[in-house]
Amino acid sequence: CGIVGYAGHVETACGKPLEVCLQGLKRLEYRGYDSAGVALTAPGMDHVAVRKKAGRLANLVDSIERTPMPLATVGIGHTRWATNGVPSDVNAHPHTSMDGKVAIIHNGIIENASQLRLDLQAEGYRFASATDTEVAAKLLGKIVDTIIREEGRPDLFKAVRRMARMLKGAFTILATDCRQPDIVVGARHDSPLVVGLGDGENFLGSDVAAFVAYTKRAMEVDQDQAVCVSADKVVVTDFNGNVVEHPKTYTVDWD
Ligand code: GLU
Repeated sequence: CGIVGYAGHVETACGKPLEVCLQGLKRLEYRGYDSAGVALTAPGMDHVAVRKKAGRLANLVDSIERTPMPLATVGIGHTRWATNGVPSDVNAHPHTSMDGKVAIIHNGIIENASQLRLDLQAEGYRFASATDTEVAAKLLGKIVDTIIREEGRPDLFKAVRRMARMLKGAFTILATDCRQPDIVVGARHDSPLVVGLGDGENFLGSDVAAFVAYTKRAMEVDQDQAVCVSADKVVVTDFNGNVVEHPKTYTVDWD
């Protein structure tokens, strides 16, 4: 339901990615939700750090205060409005790949999730939740592994585009991979996604409310486009990888 993402400098893991995610989710609370969660990544991690809780955002904040999360360079945060699977800790986002190295958050409904789930189960993939989103997470993990085999290194941007071409239905998806702790990758189809342009940091949101406390400069991600955001670079492409030369930018005129 609500989506926020943050990419800061890869040299300095800090509390900012978590702060931005929680602040952004707070600002998106007006949309309504039943669960909340975050995923954080930093150099040296062997899996993405995930925390997620059913209920109010305060439940997630309490959990993090009791058991702090690691410092990070990038983060993604989600408030869920359940469509596939009851509201619960397990069904809350983020969802992860089998090896825990890739995490995603998702707004919308993936219409071909049942078929994709059966295909993945036949290949030995196991599912913890009842969500359509976890199907995309397992699929993305599989695609990243394939790219590593083919090209010798992970490429989350390429993997997200390949995944997006396989999904039917509505989605805004953000993804993070602990092997690429400098980027957050997004994709959208029939569901909104906006980039917030910062100074040595960049933001993503399902609407500008997610990051307006930090920057008023925004960039549009259009229908069927993917975006790769790092601390000082934003690249937008179509789902085939063709670069969009000058994505439209604008200034948000409210706070
Ligand atoms: N379909 C997904 C789920 O049920 C995402 C729902 C949302 O947009 O929050 O988990």
